[in-house]
Amino acid sequence: MGERREGRPTELWHEYDFESGIRAGYEVRRLYAETTPYQKLEVFEHDFLGRMLALDGIVQTTTRDEFIYHEMMVHVPLLGRPAADEPASVLIIGGGDGGVLREVLRSDLVRRVVMVEIDAAVIEACKKYVGIHGDYDDPRAELVIGDGFAYVKSPEVRAHPFDVAIVDSTDPIGPSQPLFTEEFVADLAACLTSRGVMTRQAGVPFIQRSEMPRAVAQVERIFGRAEVYRASIPTYGGGDMAFVAGVKGGGTLQTPRLEFSGRYYNPEVHAAAFALPPFWQDLRANG
Ligand code: SAM
Repeated sequence: MGERREGRPTELWHEYDFESGIRAGYEVRRLYAETTPYQKLEVFEHDFLGRMLALDGIVQTTTRDEFIYHEMMVHVPLLGRPAADEPASVLIIGGGDGGVLREVLRSDLVRRVVMVEIDAAVIEACKKYVGIHGDYDDPRAELVIGDGFAYVKSPEVRAHPFDVAIVDSTDPIGPSQPLFTEEFVADLAACLTSRGVMTRQAGVPFIQRSEMPRAVAQVERIFGRAEVYRASIPTYGGGDMAFVAGVKGGGTLQTPRLEFSGRYYNPEVHAAAFALPPFWQDLRANG
């Protein structure tokens, strides 16, 4: 248990284990807890990080720095894709806190967004206690409560392919495990247009060493090539987070094709995010 500071009532230290024998701890107050059919869902309040969503104990997002992750998950593929100046339809797998949906809906070029989230309880708890605000009432948005792994197998879905797919899942434990298979990546690619692009979070390579190279190998086999970009999200600890992207029909996401600035994302940050340090390049190549 962490060292307690005198004079302040603290309900608990929330801790969880990364790989590599590293444990993260947060001094919080618990606002909500539920055991859903899919996972243990908790919402905490942290004096500095704000509202905090944890699933199966793993901190998913905090209101203090969620903008970094969600802007980079969305605007890099949306603005870097070869057809960036054309209308887009977007598929979100996961994303139950609503942050990716919020960022997607900021673009006037987005005509349609479908969000496939397996656990309705996450959406309800985040609306009520976290407040990241994906606008589910936007006429362009369609919310599907279901398993993303099954969704991308549907012929009906493939008959209306997407321009951008964003896999915003939990880590490869519990209900998201199938989302880390090559089968899923292949099925996801079948739901994209001939110039469609995908991106996914691939962990913090400095300590979660296996996720990025595995995602790269899968995307390379399905899309022909993979691109890795990075962003530093303080909540996750352990250094930069990796994102792994694929572009159908060749091309790259590395060049921002439209002007947009958020609180973290801008065209310079977009381009720089693809500059990888040699140890990342080595990890990518050799696992
Ligand atoms: N956006 C946050 C972040 O910053 O990393 C976390 C992602 S979001 C909370 C992860 C979501 O993936 C959860 O809401 C979880 O219920 C959902 N999920 C897990 N497995 C899934 C599956 N097979 N299909 C659809 N959604 C899934």
